[in-house]
Amino acid sequence: MPFSHRFSAMTQSSRIGFISLGCPKALVDSEQIMTKLRSEGYDLVPTYRDADLVVVNTCGFIDAAVEESLDAIGEALRENGKVIVTGCLGSREEEIRARHPQVLKITGAHAYEAVVEAVHEHLPPAHDPFIDLVPPEGIKLTPRHYAYLKISEGCNHRCTFCIIPSLRGDLVSRPVGEVLQEAERLVTAGVKELLVVSQDTSAYGVDRRYRTDFWNGRPVKTRFYELAQALGSMDAWVRLHYVYPYPHVDEVIPLMAEGLILPYLDIPFQHASEHILKAMKRPGDTSNILARIRKWREICPDLTIRSTFIAGFPGETDEDFEELLDFLDQAQLDRVGCFAYSPVEGAKANELPGAVPEEIKQERLARLMAFQEDISAARLASRVGQRETVVIDEVVEEGAVARTRYDAPDIDGQVFIDGATHLKVGDRVEVIIEEADEHDLWAHLAEPLATP
Ligand code: SF4
Repeated sequence: MPFSHRFSAMTQSSRIGFISLGCPKALVDSEQIMTKLRSEGYDLVPTYRDADLVVVNTCGFIDAAVEESLDAIGEALRENGKVIVTGCLGSREEEIRARHPQVLKITGAHAYEAVVEAVHEHLPPAHDPFIDLVPPEGIKLTPRHYAYLKISEGCNHRCTFCIIPSLRGDLVSRPVGEVLQEAERLVTAGVKELLVVSQDTSAYGVDRRYRTDFWNGRPVKTRFYELAQALGSMDAWVRLHYVYPYPHVDEVIPLMAEGLILPYLDIPFQHASEHILKAMKRPGDTSNILARIRKWREICPDLTIRSTFIAGFPGETDEDFEELLDFLDQAQLDRVGCFAYSPVEGAKANELPGAVPEEIKQERLARLMAFQEDISAARLASRVGQRETVVIDEVVEEGAVARTRYDAPDIDGQVFIDGATHLKVGDRVEVIIEEADEHDLWAHLAEPLATP
């Protein structure tokens, strides 16, 4: 789940090394901090040795991510010595200081100004900021052809396994005009796919009471549906991530059927047993969810659904787990991720009775993944022989590595096109799917369609 990026650039003047850990939302934070620093004339450098100071953007979502973040801070201290820490784990300053007392400054998530101030304090900016060195879309850690678009911070839910609301606070949506302007800038700069991210995408605007804002002089409500519709009018693929299963999600399915936004929903269901969902403080009506999924597929037959689940949540019985497998069987989801429940420090779920022994959690996790593998493999096999548009993400010695509209970068499957080394990253081409396994596809380039 968590991934890291190290930024590279030419070096001169005050030089910053940047380590970015965690989810796409943290990645967007990193991009914004780096854009700000670059606009002030700092150079961003690829090695500890070249840097005058290192910023580590941490993740604190699960214990493994906390460990990875603490290790990264330790490495930066050993190799460089001057380290500023920011990001989700930053809200647990004592824990960081206990392991690494020599860190210069610790700031929490979404605290750009505080990070930049700390950098100013320990490494003053150069006098002549090279503002013109910053591209109009800012500094991106993703390849040029796709970009994450963060629409809000925080979350109003209180799922008992999650500490994000205590780390990042309640939902704060960005005004829709600002989000759409950023999206437009990205598309003008060559971005061909916008990945909409937040903690809770479908709640967008609820904190602003769906206030009307302006985009290019046109009134637009700060609301999930209107945002999806406006993004859909731009010349880019639009993919919705982290969609909480509210009833109003149904409204965007026709936009997918019309081809305005991608027929793709990343919607974490987490479980299917009503009493486990209740213990998680998640919406609990599974038969209703199954009926909605059926309806969505009637409206938009090629809808791809990705979801995540937790196995071995406190109190989960064999029957609950069987119910979850039964749900997967009926829902026929395309892509599924699953975690064995791990008690995150500070999460309410830790106080729940009925902790599931580790070996049973692992066994259920393995069973669920094996069960879903067959479903995913069958769904992908049904695409063999089809003609599909793919985007090229990478060109390697053997050929091109691409993605269909039904797959998000980093988390979903890929399409391998043997020998297509003449293609360029970001190209969109037509292919015929030849082969599939439970995750990826193999294809050859399609002949152009005859014009009438
Ligand atoms: S909706 Fe997501 S971010 Fe919000 S509390 Fe639940 S799991 Fe955490």
